[in-house]
Amino acid sequence: MAQKSIAVLTSGGDAPGMNAAFRAVVRTGINKGMKVFGIYRGFNGLLKGEIEEMNLRSVSEIIGNGGTKLYTARSEEFKKKEAQERAAEFCRSKGISGVVVIGGDGSFRGARALTRAGVNCIGVPGTIDNDIACSEYTVGYDTAMNTALQMVDRIRDTAQSHDRCSIVEVMGRHCGDIALQTGIATGATAILVPEVEYNIERDVITRILNTQKTGKKHFIIVVAEGVGGVNDLAKYIEQRLGIEARATILGHVQRGGSPTVRDRVVASQMGYRAVELLSQDIGNRVVCMRDGKITDLDITEALDMPRVFDTELYKIAMTISI
Ligand code: ATP
Repeated sequence: MAQKSIAVLTSGGDAPGMNAAFRAVVRTGINKGMKVFGIYRGFNGLLKGEIEEMNLRSVSEIIGNGGTKLYTARSEEFKKKEAQERAAEFCRSKGISGVVVIGGDGSFRGARALTRAGVNCIGVPGTIDNDIACSEYTVGYDTAMNTALQMVDRIRDTAQSHDRCSIVEVMGRHCGDIALQTGIATGATAILVPEVEYNIERDVITRILNTQKTGKKHFIIVVAEGVGGVNDLAKYIEQRLGIEARATILGHVQRGGSPTVRDRVVASQMGYRAVELLSQDIGNRVVCMRDGKITDLDITEALDMPRVFDTELYKIAMTISI
């Protein structure tokens, strides 16, 4: 029987731990007797033929590196059927029967399209936002949270010295998980997330006033990117309460950095699972974590799932951050 060939790519926004997933795919594939190709710059690389065969040493010394050694990109062209068919034809010309796609839900749509064009694909959730509904965990989330935590801790030091209110924007366009976790972990007086409708007077001003009454003089407000408006919020707090307020947008600092233990381990488990599926000629699945276990789901089923925000954790945050 001919040697099986598979490939791996990273797509969408980068996330710490993508290298660990890439490494796991390469080493699992080779250990199963397959040829493994790395595709550079996401689906663009498939369209441009930017691929390279990997060996066990190609992925040495990368498990602790942030970013993605395969580079990543967004490809508008790949959304067209003609491009998907061309990419599938390119895979066939190289003998590649399966592709592991590490990225977010947009990348999973690409993986589904390529599977429909005849090349089995498996999605691995790699995104710092933790915004993949089917999975409790996405590769990169833990590192991003810990980076945000360290940054807010530093901001807190100076907020405390100056009796100041610091408003910090953390990442999360549609998903407030980083804000919620960081907010709890730093004792933020208020946490604003896209999933929960808020009222500035009730959810920020009154909370600051109530905390002030108990003797507190510095305040941290954590705001998810999807809520935004941190500069205006700082101005409003200054005018409304007469306390100094400063806004900080953490931005891309949260995307980089050496992945945490959790990100390295989960990425390794997910990469391994993806190759196990491809080795059985199974495609159109997303590897995910459910009830703490690594499993997999049909891509369409996974994409159709509604995201569930942890309202219980939000309630706890609102209760204890006073
Ligand atoms: P992040 O969460 O970091 O934004 P993502 O994977 O959701 O990651 P997108 O930009 O939405 O990022 O998607 C990445 C790429 O996946 C796109 O640039 C495109 O190449 C491909 N893609 C997205 N949607 C589709 C689709 N409907 N059909 C085919 N390919 C798609």
